[in-house]
Amino acid sequence: MKCRPVFQRAANFLSGVVRNIDEALMPKHCVFCGMGPPPDEASICSGCYADLARVEYSCGRCASPVSATLPEGIHCGACQESPPPFVSAVARLEYAFPTDAAIKAMKFNRRLDYVPAFAGLLIDSMADLADDIDALVAVPLHWHRQATRGFNQAEELCKPLMLNTGLPILGNVRRTRATPYQSALDAKHRHGNLDSAFAVRGKISAQHALIVDDVITTGETCGQLARVLLENGAERVSVLAIARA
Ligand SMILES: [Zn+2]
Ligand SMILES: [Zn+2]
Repeated sequence: MKCRPVFQRAANFLSGVVRNIDEALMPKHCVFCGMGPPPDEASICSGCYADLARVEYSCGRCASPVSATLPEGIHCGACQESPPPFVSAVARLEYAFPTDAAIKAMKFNRRLDYVPAFAGLLIDSMADLADDIDALVAVPLHWHRQATRGFNQAEELCKPLMLNTGLPILGNVRRTRATPYQSALDAKHRHGNLDSAFAVRGKISAQHALIVDDVITTGETCGQLARVLLENGAERVSVLAIARA
């Protein structure tokens, strides 16, 4: 189905209303342990932040966990065989409890109070990426899914990143088709599920764009979006997510 701007505007308006209500109700304690209040606006206490399971070693190209540190410029076997269109990817957390439960609650139960906790992690993770990144791109949702959910979690994660880094969020990227969740498909059907799922209005003004998403599942979504960004003016694309499934 083609994206219809009037529905997109309605979806954005509804997102704003839901967000304002959620923000008003946001509890002032750690979203993970319920103790608090956290020392700042982070919504996670320092103990819970330290306890989140982290990926010890990962491929710098695709963020997949690997068994030991790879030498500079060397990537995992999968990337050597078939390099993804993005040049680097960072996802510091394991997609395991409590991170997986928190991400699902954020997306499916409108628990936007998890956003500041994860945004802090993403801001810290920027240190692992090249310093020539000049714009952020939230993985877009199809307008229908955004209207149903009330918000786009990738956009919500991008906003604090924008405030912290001063990098703009590119608003001219959209999802042209509603696609089934990658996580709900088997490997055979994942490939091809996202063909022509993204489109750019005009040109990408950034040279090194950073795709922001909540979870990297197969890398297919980010790969497809990266391809579209590169075809429309970006010179390089990197990926930043909370966790790698
Ligand atoms: Zn806590
Ligand atoms: Zn890799």
